Amino acid sequence: MSVEKRFIREELERLQSEGLYTHIRTIESAQGPWVTIEGRRRLNLCSNNYLGLCSDRRICDRARAMIDIYGVGPGAVRTIAGTMSPHVELERKLAEFKGTEAAMLVQSGFCANLSAIPPLVGKGDLVFSDELNHASIIDACRLSGATILRYPHNSPSGLREVLESRKAEACRKLVVTDGVFSMDGDIAPLPDLVEAAEDYGAMIMVDDAHGEGVLGRGGRGIVDHFGLHGRVDVEVGTLSKAFGVVGGFISGTAELVDYLRQKARPNLFSSALTVPDVAANLASVEILQESDELVRKLWSNGKLFKERMKGYGFNIGNSQTPITPVILGEAAVAKAFSARLFEEGIFAQAIAFPTVPKGTARIRVMVSAAHEPSDLEMAAEVFARVAREMNLLPA
Ligand SMILES: *Cc1c(COP(=O)(O)O)cnc(C)c1O
Repeated sequence: MSVEKRFIREELERLQSEGLYTHIRTIESAQGPWVTIEGRRRLNLCSNNYLGLCSDRRICDRARAMIDIYGVGPGAVRTIAGTMSPHVELERKLAEFKGTEAAMLVQSGFCANLSAIPPLVGKGDLVFSDELNHASIIDACRLSGATILRYPHNSPSGLREVLESRKAEACRKLVVTDGVFSMDGDIAPLPDLVEAAEDYGAMIMVDDAHGEGVLGRGGRGIVDHFGLHGRVDVEVGTLSKAFGVVGGFISGTAELVDYLRQKARPNLFSSALTVPDVAANLASVEILQESDELVRKLWSNGKLFKERMKGYGFNIGNSQTPITPVILGEAAVAKAFSARLFEEGIFAQAIAFPTVPKGTARIRVMVSAAHEPSDLEMAAEVFARVAREMNLLPA
């Protein structure tokens, strides 16, 4: 290899030797509570398929039916020739579901942050960002060119201190937070954050990726959970988690959405979502609008698993949602634990630094409405057996 490109191999070797290289597993079946990996059925405890919709018959049927009418590809970016009736229908349904005037569909949740933030703030402006915000928020803030000021995690008083320190600056200000923080399952104290933003004349935006389909009435998200309709300027959402498909969206006032359609670069320069994606999402939103049964099952499964794990003596942090972090300590321990679970038929990946702070490496368990209570009882039992074997719990 040429001298100039040697850094690639060196970096790969560094990742390997420090145990930071990610081995990517291949799922050989449809997504679901049980999946096939390396030829064997395994209990899936690490996907974001909260409601089991990824392979739901109703959303697959809708995708097939709409392909027969509209084909697959959109052929262009939304602003040139890629806006088709299914896109417009899904945007209307998403706005209705979220209780906002309008919504704009983009290719992913990551793109939704890249679409929302740079048009709102730029060079000379200020972003107030929770220190644990998602990577896509961080990247979108950097891309905007605004000055990024981090405030302590989930701390309205910490936010107020930073807002106070920049009070005199007459520029655009944006407060941004995740709704549910995915590594710990804690919920942003949105009412107090909104009040702080209002007091200092800042806009406020929440990324509800792990709140949709989980929090609020029938899974309508964090704004609904706290009854804050009309007080959050920008809501970012993803269609890849509870909705079970792929895509992202931004919801808010009709004027905001109109503005973002004109300004957001992923909307202007990257092609629209495909017809089957949009069709499947239409079915998902309708399933959520019709019944809260899946959302209730998700919460009861989460409660059951947490109770079992607490009963066995695990440290499961302070999650306020079905997300269950099983905190084990060092990265090597969490990795070995995950490998032992895999041998026992359980697929649950270890998460370590830099995704979570050093010394808090964990198995982050994602419970789904598609799990049977007996699956989760079995899983907790296997976790306890492996932990005793590794001397992480008393024998
Ligand atoms: C998962 C996630 C995203 C990215 O969503 P995709 O649709 O997978 O691109 C963005 N923000 C947060 C907070 C997330 O958890």
